[in-house]
This record gives sequence, structure tokens and C-alpha cells, in this order.
Amino acid sequence: MSTDGRTISVFGATGSVGASTLDLVRRADGAMRIDTLTANTSVNDLAALAREFDAHHVVIGDAASYGALKDALSNTGTTIAAGAEALCEAAQRPVDLVMAAIVGAAGLAPTIAAVRNQPLVALANKETLVCAGAFVIAEAARCRCLLIPVDSEHSALLQALGGPAFLENRDLSQVAELIITASGGPFLDLGAAELARVTPEQAVAHPTWSMGAKISVDSATLMNKALELIEAKHLFSVPAGRLRAVVHPQSIIHGLVRYRDGSVVAQMANPDMRAPIAFALGWPDRTPTPVKPLDLAEIGTLSFHEPDTERFPAMRLARQILESDGGAATICNAANEVAVAAFLDRRIGFADIVAIVERTVAELDGFAVPAPAGLEDAEALDTEARGVAARFAATDVSRIAG
Ligand code: NAD
Ligand code: MG
Repeated sequence: MSTDGRTISVFGATGSVGASTLDLVRRADGAMRIDTLTANTSVNDLAALAREFDAHHVVIGDAASYGALKDALSNTGTTIAAGAEALCEAAQRPVDLVMAAIVGAAGLAPTIAAVRNQPLVALANKETLVCAGAFVIAEAARCRCLLIPVDSEHSALLQALGGPAFLENRDLSQVAELIITASGGPFLDLGAAELARVTPEQAVAHPTWSMGAKISVDSATLMNKALELIEAKHLFSVPAGRLRAVVHPQSIIHGLVRYRDGSVVAQMANPDMRAPIAFALGWPDRTPTPVKPLDLAEIGTLSFHEPDTERFPAMRLARQILESDGGAATICNAANEVAVAAFLDRRIGFADIVAIVERTVAELDGFAVPAPAGLEDAEALDTEARGVAARFAATDVSRIAG
């Protein structure tokens, strides 16, 4: 099987991963067909994509935008729906592959609907696994859905583990350790005092990757790496002690598997999301991409070091969460979304983001509350954590981080 003749739906079509996915579909010259495209509020962008790709169906998350989208797609055959429920219904339309690229826990319910109804889900929406990882993975197994990671580090791990052959039995008995790399973000070398003063504009300007605003801020706090360690724990069913992150500023090696004999298999590529996206879209085949061929002699030097848990406390929190089986990951994810939004709105400072997350996890006794057993549980804990984090974000936050 290759991408030829594949029908796909793209959830989060107007975002950064959505755009890279549709770029590959465009270049495939009709070999892949689009069923459904979704967005949250970007009516014009969604309508333009629906026309270009002759989508059968579109969904806009924001129910109030239904009329505008309908007008923008008049005289086309595309059907239109709006609202959170419509996203879940669209995830059940039969296709060959769903790209789950909504950002945040907003993607949880549609992704679960896709996992329950589709043979193949390409998962970019890491927050889904952080919020309700054990449940999502169990549902995928129960419904025989293949979850192919799109996050570059997890795609790298899957490739270094053997790709399709690994998914046949998920045997980790020869594996000593899974290692993901972190670029370190734009503030890798800043001191604590300078970190406290950084602006949203500086935080979203990532040195090696071009991404949406939320994940760019997550990369700057290293919360992205914390979320990714939790994502890896669920995707590969690996215990916390066999998972590690290493800072690698050039973003050429994305993930490494250390086997028990001492051999380490690493996956490399220039930092371009179209590489891991193509790996998922073409599964189990490899398909040509426009990713710049890797020239190691041109790059010259690859460097690595340990993450600094003092300046980047998200890494410390990640370790505590990884070692617990409680609801802390769900709380962490929700509080982080609230705190990142407050930072982007200039209501809190950069250092307040992780401070608010840590306080919210402590306030809700995150390491003791049980992990969510299902979608409703996850949504309830997510909502509770958002309320607590919003309260912290509205108080004198400089006292928290200080
Ligand atoms: P983005 O902000 O660029 O795009 C997000 C998409 O989700 C948009 O289409 C938006 O309309 C939609 N959306 C947002 N809120 C929604 C809501 N409440 N309901 C319905 N739709 C909503 O984000 P992105 O950078 O493309 O990231 C998408 C996901 O992929 C995230 O989970 C991110 O962590 C993950 N990811 C991204 C990259 C990257 O390079 N951008 C790399 C690895 C993983
Ligand atoms: Mg990543």
C-alpha cells in the first residue's frame, strides 16, 4: 500500500501541521483524496482549502461561524457542519486515514472518535495522549486502530524500533532506553533573570522548527519535551526509567533507541515536519518528499547536553509525572494550555507558565488522584484544572515564579 488512492481527513487543516499535510497531498497530484477538513475559527482559510482540495465535508469548531462558512462555500458540493459534536461525527466518516492535528485537549474527543472508527490515525495532537494516554491507547488496541505518531521524535523512535515490524508485536525486550531530542528552544542559553523577561514574540520564534504558537511556547519552556516524554510512555508502553530527553540544538537527530547490546539506532532528517507526516501518510511505505536531503558534512557538528532542570523546571515536573500513574498529566496539560494562552495574551510572564502548572498539579493533588478512565473523566479533570490554573493566572503571578 502507498498513498495512492488513499482518502484522508485532516482535523486542524488550517494549522501548521495541517498545512504541511496538505502540502504533501497537493504534491501527490491527485493520488490522495480529501474527505473532511476542519478548523476552529478560520472560515476563509478553511473555505479556500475546501475549494482547492474539493473536500466532501468541512467542519468549523466555532458554531457561530456556521453561516459565514456556508456563504463562503455556496455553489460547491461540500457539506458543512459546525460545533464540537460535529467534529466527533466527522471523525466517524469512513476514510483510509485521519490526520489528528487539532491543538490541545480540544482534539481529545474527535481523536477518540477517529480511533474508534478508523483503521489508521496519524497523531500530531500529543495533548490527547498526555490528557488521557492510557485510555486512548487501550481504545486503539480494542478497536484495532493503528496510531502512527507524527511528532518528529516519536516518528523517529518508531522508525528506529523497526517501523511496521515493531508494531506487529511491540516487543521491547531488546531495548534498554528510548531517547528523544530537544532543540532546547530559543532561550537555551538565557539565564533565569533574562528568562523572566522574554516576550511572546521572542518565544514563538523557534530556532529550528516552524510551528503553531502554542507548541512554540511549549518548546521555549521545554514543556513540549515534558509532554513528549509522557506521549512516548503511552505510545510505546515503556516505563519511566527507560525514557530520556537530551538537548540537541541542531534538531537533526530526532530520536534514538539504545539496544541492550550497547548499539544505538538514531533517526535523522533535516527539521521539516513533512518528513514525519509523510511517514504516517504513506504507512507502511516510504514516499518521496520535498524535505531537503541531509548533508552531514555541510552541517559539520552535532552537539548534545543534559537539559537544565533549574532553568527549565518543566523537565523536573516531567520526571515526577512520568513516575506516577495518577491524573497529574491531565492536570499538567490543562494548566499549561491556560498558562500559555495567558502568556500569549501578556497577562503573565514567561516564568509564570510552568510555575502555574506546578501549583495547579499540587493544588489538585495530581499525583494522588487517579488517571482518567475514560473521555468524561478526562474532560472533568481537564475542566477542573483549567479553573484552578485560570485563578492562579489572574492573581499576582510574579510572586509565584519569584
Ligand atoms: P496550530 O495552532 O498551527 O493549528 C491548530 C489547528 O487546530 C488549527 O487548524 C485550528 O483551527 C485547530 N483548532 C484549534 N483549537 C481548536 C478547537 N478548540 N476546536 C477545533 N479545532 C481547533 O497548531 P500546530 O502547530 O499545527 O499543532 C497541532 C498539533 O500538532 C499540536 O498538538 C502540536 O503539539 C502537534 N505538533 C505540532 C508540530 C508542528 O511542527 N507544528 C510538531 C509536532 C507536534
Ligand atoms: Mg516534537
